[in-house]
Amino acid sequence: MEHLNFLEEKILSDGTIKQGNILKIDNFLNHQIDIDIMRQIAYELKRRFRDVEVNKVLTIEASGIAIATMLGNLYDVPIVFAKKGETANSTDDKYVSQAYSFTHKQMNSVFVSKPYLHPTDRVLIVDDFLADGQAVHALIDLVHQAGGEVAGIGIAVEKGQQKGGRQLREEGYRLESIAIIDEMDWETQSIKFRR
Ligand code: 5GP
Repeated sequence: MEHLNFLEEKILSDGTIKQGNILKIDNFLNHQIDIDIMRQIAYELKRRFRDVEVNKVLTIEASGIAIATMLGNLYDVPIVFAKKGETANSTDDKYVSQAYSFTHKQMNSVFVSKPYLHPTDRVLIVDDFLADGQAVHALIDLVHQAGGEVAGIGIAVEKGQQKGGRQLREEGYRLESIAIIDEMDWETQSIKFRR
């Protein structure tokens, strides 16, 4: 029997696979939030990035906020979450980027107000899922617009059959995902994790 980490075990016991390559983990991450699992995710990311200097944690609303908050608590640094929407208004006071939403099948503007990202920032980007990398690339773009540096990218669940993870690693980013799904099948409800 292969060894599974805490998150892989939780996904197998509580997750359901939806048609269209969607993993539903509403009862511990995307609707109800299991604080013990969040705590373990934060400790694990802090451990994996132990050699990295971080002065800010950046995520995107909504589900990333729980992970970011627990991690910000461990680092004792501020967390910032990018907001979605609001395309029309003046962009003078905010950094704006675009991300196509895999789950909602639409383009989203994402933004952070200028006072919350600085050229001196060494930012750890975190999110719940990494699929095609749209959300993470938008966050990277916001950090770069502000003149800051991306210290690393921490993800709870990476869907390894989609291109985001491979692209980010090829681009040279330090990417750590706690669970990487290489295959999942909704008909048999089976999941294969990367070892
Ligand atoms: P990406 O931007 O990397 O294509 O997709 C990541 C975003 O889409 C995440 O922020 C997450 O909200 C959502 N997402 C992508 N795939 C899944 C999935 O299988 N399950 C859930 N719950 N969200 C997903």
